[in-house]
Amino acid sequence: MIIVLKRGATKADADLILGKIEAKGLKSLYLPGVERTVLGAIGAERVLAQLSFESHPMVESVEPVLAEYKLVSRELHPHDTVVAIGAASVGAERFLVVGGPCSVETREQTLASARAAKEAGAHALRGGAYKQRTSPYAFQGLGVEGLEILRDVGRELELPIVTEVVEVGDVDTVARYADALQIGARNMQNFPLLMASARTNKPILLKRGMAATIRDLLLAAEYIMDAGNDRIVLCERGIRTFETATRNTLDLSAVPYIKQKSHLPVVVDPSHGTGVRELVAPMARAAAACGADGILVEVHENPAEAWSDGAQSLYPEAFKELVRGLRPFVEAAGKTL
Ligand code: PEP
Ligand code: MN
Repeated sequence: MIIVLKRGATKADADLILGKIEAKGLKSLYLPGVERTVLGAIGAERVLAQLSFESHPMVESVEPVLAEYKLVSRELHPHDTVVAIGAASVGAERFLVVGGPCSVETREQTLASARAAKEAGAHALRGGAYKQRTSPYAFQGLGVEGLEILRDVGRELELPIVTEVVEVGDVDTVARYADALQIGARNMQNFPLLMASARTNKPILLKRGMAATIRDLLLAAEYIMDAGNDRIVLCERGIRTFETATRNTLDLSAVPYIKQKSHLPVVVDPSHGTGVRELVAPMARAAAACGADGILVEVHENPAEAWSDGAQSLYPEAFKELVRGLRPFVEAAGKTL
């Protein structure tokens, strides 16, 4: 429920109403604006119906939040959320470029790939130390050793680090090293993991599940926000369809759709979204053109030798070319690179 206070309502008026909301066991939100203060009440419909603020002298209007996802919806929070990831940020005017290898393999490979990403203009470094692989025989990641490598390389190149956490027991460890926690497609609805990650208060890059609807994604983000963390970046990374020419079908219509429904930043992963090296740059341009707030791209110093996802990883020169070609599309969408 959205409660708009009258012009001139004081903080004390707001606190009185917030107290009544909380007394019912509901979640309360205080959203002071330039012109008006807006309050939110979230919880079971049955309990919300017991609140009667319509006749309160300091209340201008009361409206229900129609969206199923409340905290992540634009209805409740009309302005774009900006999420800081170390010194970088996403959701404001600046288009975020995250580059790096699929997996952390060795110190040398990570440093060389990160250097290539940085030289091309990436603002943050990606790389998996904990991997969720389709096959149990595929490389599963270096674990803590990989985190140490990532942290050292990130420090050396002054790049914030985005890395995946795959299980609840690793959340605190990963949070000690990472600037942002990535929750992978296979874990999008691992609700205990979402809530445990949320509690670290680190930014969370939440990838869309490969068989998840946009509603599923937004409700997964709602779990994170309900656990008290609003530093969420949503990531469209392609979904499973009957198409086999590409690894996944990159659903770019999700970008403007989510931007209309939610205040959270949205980035696109054209690497997993296509699985095909040659398609990564065109889809990155398309992502920028349709209003994405950034991209997440796999770059490897030597993709032919990569331990995971080599076929979709870009050579350093190709990544440089990608970033160069992005600018007109980013600018056409009203952002800067
Ligand atoms: C990744 O980014 O390396 C990854 C495993 O992605 P996804 O969870 O989208 O498959
Ligand atoms: Mn990968």
